[in-house]
Amino acid sequence: MKYTPDPNTGKSSILLIYTGGTIGMKIDPEEQTLKPFDFSQILEEVPELGKFACRIDSCTFDHIIDSADVEPGLWQKLVEVIEDNYDSYDGFVILHGTDTMAYSASALSFMTEGLTKPVIFTGSQLPIGVPRTDGKENLVSSVEIAAAKDSEGHAIVPEVCICFGNSLMRGNRTRKVNSENFRAFRSENFPHLAEAGIRIWYDTANILKPADWNRKPLFHKELDTRVSILKIHPGITPQVVRNIICGPETRAVIIETYGSGNAPSREWFIDLIREGIAMGKIILNVTQCLAGSVDMDLYATGKKLKKAGVLDGYDCTTESALAKLFFLMGTSTDNGFVRRELDKNLRGEITK
Ligand code: ASP
Repeated sequence: MKYTPDPNTGKSSILLIYTGGTIGMKIDPEEQTLKPFDFSQILEEVPELGKFACRIDSCTFDHIIDSADVEPGLWQKLVEVIEDNYDSYDGFVILHGTDTMAYSASALSFMTEGLTKPVIFTGSQLPIGVPRTDGKENLVSSVEIAAAKDSEGHAIVPEVCICFGNSLMRGNRTRKVNSENFRAFRSENFPHLAEAGIRIWYDTANILKPADWNRKPLFHKELDTRVSILKIHPGITPQVVRNIICGPETRAVIIETYGSGNAPSREWFIDLIREGIAMGKIILNVTQCLAGSVDMDLYATGKKLKKAGVLDGYDCTTESALAKLFFLMGTSTDNGFVRRELDKNLRGEITK
């Protein structure tokens, strides 16, 4: 992997969108409790931001939430805000709780097609008002990355990313892996897109570029959320598997399998998978492992799944698989189309 330093160019304008989460909390001196702070005063709170040659505007969602309460409606709202303001800003920084940030970043990567500008998610493990906060550094790096342009004036990172703990990661490759450490996110199956040290170094070869810099992106807001996740574990029962695979409300099921895509080889299990597929369900295989890929040809148990019609999720994270299904199923009622698109690398989410 070859990193190139940020050539750092002209003045940019950034829209900061605050949705909630720990980062936006400040200790109220009177009540000694954590409260969301007023982002219109962001330069007072984080004076470091004033040192950049860029304009920073902010907007705060009406309902500030713990990201445990994130629903697809919030993703639709975020896409709307980005679409409405797309021509007025050079980049977008979304402040979001860490708990579901990987889901939201994955969702936005599919809901925005052909991005020419950065959309950077960030947050923190400690509130911005706490002396040892990681929030300031995460925010400052995110703004710098969102504002960065190359010598031709194009955004260096026209992708949906997560910036956290000095690393920039493709959003749909991330997982939250630590609830305490400042390096809370990992992108195991894809290299980091940038590292912030003394300077910010970009892995330009791995950063996605739009087919046409002059074409406005497509913003997709239709989502179909009829997806269930079945995590395989020793002792799983036919009743549980049947309820999840064959449930009437489910159009697709993600099965989180062992290792390289293996599941129990017992006859009842494969029979239920076959039954679900006969009912028209889309069944996608992703691995429970943090790193590595599904390979259903490697072991006999994987081969059985493949033969039954289970689809290969490759090295997709569960978060990204869920978002991809919501997006594809929202795009079309044709399950054949969804199956074919699932097999494609749409936004750099799988290695194929
Ligand atoms: N529970 C918080 C959230 O996800 C945690 C955080 O922001 O780090 O909103």
